[in-house]
Amino acid sequence: MTKDTIFALASGAGLAGVAVIRISGPAVRQSLDAMCGGVPPDHRAVLRQISDSVSGELLDIGLVMFFAGPGSFTGEDCAELQVHGGPAVIRSVLDCLSALPGLRPAAAGEFSRRAFAKGKMDLLMAEGLADLVEAETAAQQQQALFHLRGLSSDVVGRWRTAITEAIALAEAAIDFVEEEEVVGEAMAGIRPVVVGLRDDLHRHLRDARKGEVVRDGVRVTIAGAPNVGKSSLLNRLAGREAAIVTELPGTTRDVIEVRLDIEGLVVTFSDTAGLREGLVDRVEAIGMERSRMAMVASDLVLWLSAPEIDDPGVPPDFDSQALRVQNKVDLIAGSKSSCGELGGEYRVSAHSGEGIDQLLTAIHERLSAVYSLKEPAVVVRERHRYALAETIGDLDAVLEGENEPIEGIAENLRLAARALGTLTGQVGVEDILDSIFSRFCIGK
Ligand code: GDP
Repeated sequence: MTKDTIFALASGAGLAGVAVIRISGPAVRQSLDAMCGGVPPDHRAVLRQISDSVSGELLDIGLVMFFAGPGSFTGEDCAELQVHGGPAVIRSVLDCLSALPGLRPAAAGEFSRRAFAKGKMDLLMAEGLADLVEAETAAQQQQALFHLRGLSSDVVGRWRTAITEAIALAEAAIDFVEEEEVVGEAMAGIRPVVVGLRDDLHRHLRDARKGEVVRDGVRVTIAGAPNVGKSSLLNRLAGREAAIVTELPGTTRDVIEVRLDIEGLVVTFSDTAGLREGLVDRVEAIGMERSRMAMVASDLVLWLSAPEIDDPGVPPDFDSQALRVQNKVDLIAGSKSSCGELGGEYRVSAHSGEGIDQLLTAIHERLSAVYSLKEPAVVVRERHRYALAETIGDLDAVLEGENEPIEGIAENLRLAARALGTLTGQVGVEDILDSIFSRFCIGK
């Protein structure tokens, strides 16, 4: 199949010492001939003059690499030009590439898509790659690598193998459908496989939130009575420059958010600043409602109090997910010794910063206990969760239809295999056929 040759700037925008331009497709060799004075040896970096293919004008001197297909990232012939990172160099090289016959700029994700089409990686691995490029924290990085290295695909592969074996048993029984005991025997083999797999999938589905937590982060709402120091605490957190990932403008005028990286976990803190004294009732009511909504949407509530302010107490609905924090310990005599946890309450001073590190550690401990963040999760996207739920539904149907004709059981197993296949993007029947034929006697 003839295909366009695609190219793109693979490194980020903005001034940099080096920029990487990638090319993939059938016209890579001609492009290198035209611009770099020939095709370098496979998988070797060589320093070359890079010139305009029409005028011959020198555009840059840089490293040129050629990766012959299929042993390349996309499986096609590929090249990488490491040029100097200035905008004029980049623009002139890209302009020259687009003028070459058969070349066009790549669409978003097109290199990975080609790699997937050529079987260089499956969908889970491609998603891992996308996540790795976007990873902001160490936990996100490790989870993305788990997927990119094909470790989650291996888990899914084991699940599919189990189903494939069950299908083979069902198919064998179909061949001898008149013989009742053959069907019974087949079901005796199928049942434990299906039950074990279903339980395993349930376990991973329960872990799903954990994977999404690592990818998307968690939300912590700072709530409490007016003037206890909610905004001051948020500012104090935002002031820990080393930890800041980004500072987001409020989604509404009254909710301000700060994103921190706490030991690899992205935590978005929001300050429910809607509650202020002296505001008219209706506005205050709206503020309170917003603050309630923020609490509902969060994984953890920091309930703030202060020595000189009456504490209305955590609203009962949030009692179990709240971490109590007493602010303004600097107002208490001998505060230095009273920071940290005391009677289930964390004592801090947003003004002086005392106790803030202990509070962050406590937040991390609380969240990692809830989401058991130690090991990477297989299920990290909505799509994965959906595929797993669908597979479980099909397996349930197998067990419910246990006494029905074996054809129906085989069909439900096939549906389960297909649903799992959507995870890796390899919804094929070849592997099922292989499994069936490998059980045949020689000569049949
Ligand atoms: P919010 O209404 O809960 O957001 O409270 P603010 O952050 O606006 O703070 C209310 C008042 O408490 C301000 O005058 C702050 O300067 C003061 N405040 C906040 N944190 C501390 C603290 O740790 N120690 C002391 N002494 N005052 C604080």
